[in-house]
Amino acid sequence: MAAKKSKFNARIQNRGFSQIVLQGNNELTANANKPIRCSFCHGNHTVNSKNCEKQAMYKHGAMLYKLSLNDDEVRKSLRTRIKMTMPLKREWVTENVFSRIDKRFYRSNLIIHEACPISGLSPTQFDGMNFCISFLTQNGDVDHDGNHIWVGGDVMTTLVSTTTVKPKYVFDKTVVMMEGWVSRTTLQTLTQELTEMEAKGRM
Ligand SMILES: [Zn+2]
Repeated sequence: MAAKKSKFNARIQNRGFSQIVLQGNNELTANANKPIRCSFCHGNHTVNSKNCEKQAMYKHGAMLYKLSLNDDEVRKSLRTRIKMTMPLKREWVTENVFSRIDKRFYRSNLIIHEACPISGLSPTQFDGMNFCISFLTQNGDVDHDGNHIWVGGDVMTTLVSTTTVKPKYVFDKTVVMMEGWVSRTTLQTLTQELTEMEAKGRM
């Protein structure tokens, strides 16, 4: 039973409740609006409002890329970030990890935690790196089955090119430099030194 009020309350309406408004001797029933649902966390607010606390939480110490069909520039800048400027773990792995992921994750919002170069391959290509990522659920929580998993460049390529009508949120956490990571310029120097050392060793 809806509460009887003498004043119409728009907020109640937007939460999806109907209300009975007293007007003179008449009771008017105002039907509920379709509740507002955030496209990021499914909460009762619009996605761009300050009320989206989950989005604000992930944005903290991260760069947000909002991939959408009608803005290819965002996708391009994320790709450039990954190939050219994203710092890398100062440790080389020898192979690609998880070249397949659960299909449902391809539409999920995600966090990029860190990237690691693959030895013998160029990290200026997606294929030359592995990535530690987490997928988010429709409610904006970290998905238990997709929490800090490592994927190869081929998966990453698909993840950042998936373009659905619904925008995809990608949080790049590598903007805050961590211990054990190197910048791309440092990496270049290291690789060069390594190659020279190897060349000398062969003589
Ligand atoms: Zn929200």
